[in-house]
Amino acid sequence: MKKRTVIVLAAALFAAAALLYLYFTGEGEGAGIPCMLYQITGFYCSGCGSSRALRSILHFDFYQALRYNAIFTLGLPLLGAYFGALAVSYIRFGKDKISGKIPMNLVWIFIAAALVYGVLRNIPMLSFLAPTTL
Ligand SMILES: [Zn+2]
Repeated sequence: MKKRTVIVLAAALFAAAALLYLYFTGEGEGAGIPCMLYQITGFYCSGCGSSRALRSILHFDFYQALRYNAIFTLGLPLLGAYFGALAVSYIRFGKDKISGKIPMNLVWIFIAAALVYGVLRNIPMLSFLAPTTL
């Protein structure tokens, strides 16, 4: 087996172990990643609720995942496709043949959307964008 295949398989195993851990830990058991911005300022960032959203996705509760973090939940399939294609490219060719093909405009649009989402979810009138407590 090629060295790069072993590296990709090891990364996939690590990701699977992390997802299993997240799947089997319940709410409030410390599996969530605490947000430094929220702890310091009390404001939600674009990523707040992402680990809870991922746990909900793992339990096929997509509505709750959207309530925790909509942009993470909607962007996850794109991110998964990107990393999947990256892994295949790395195994087949030994290098990244994917990243150069992604239009930078798309990347900047996603980054801008994430920043705007981070601002909007802190406006009281748009509190439905803030992560729910349950
Ligand atoms: Zn946060």
